[in-house]
Amino acid sequence: MKKKIIFLDRDGVINEEVNYLHQIEDFIFIEGIFQSLNYLKKFGYEFIIITNQSGIGRGLYDENDYQKLDLWMKSVFKKHDLDILFSIHCPHTPEDNCNCRKPKTGMFEYCFQKYSISKENSWMIGDSKRDIEASLSAGINNNILVRSGHPIPEDIKNITIIDSMKEVHQVITS
Ligand SMILES: [Zn+2]
Repeated sequence: MKKKIIFLDRDGVINEEVNYLHQIEDFIFIEGIFQSLNYLKKFGYEFIIITNQSGIGRGLYDENDYQKLDLWMKSVFKKHDLDILFSIHCPHTPEDNCNCRKPKTGMFEYCFQKYSISKENSWMIGDSKRDIEASLSAGINNNILVRSGHPIPEDIKNITIIDSMKEVHQVITS
């Protein structure tokens, strides 16, 4: 059976937005994230984190810093009975012009190769226009934009905009 995936951006969706976050002590989980994901888990959804990390390409932190934080984050999810199926990041800067940095679709394509995923039954939750553009280009039409302070684009159609991750499971299971 094809997997139903909730794709999650990291910064601004899982944790409070901090510019070029790379230290555990600066990582604050968004209120309601564990409850919402646990609720969705009961409906058979699995979770993939898909995140731009240009701070690596900019030399502000390195791959090792990223992996350390990623492992720690997953261990905290685990304490809340949540398994993250996979997390994938783009280390490049915009100037690198790679195929993975959102709004490009490379990270989604990688996941589609790695797992058998039902695009129709999967969702993307992001906090910026490029998250949603990437997802739509990759063929995922169920998109939620959560307000984290980024400007909300006027010109993206057919997305649900929410104020808090506490509302996300209601949107998805309604
Ligand atoms: Zn990239």
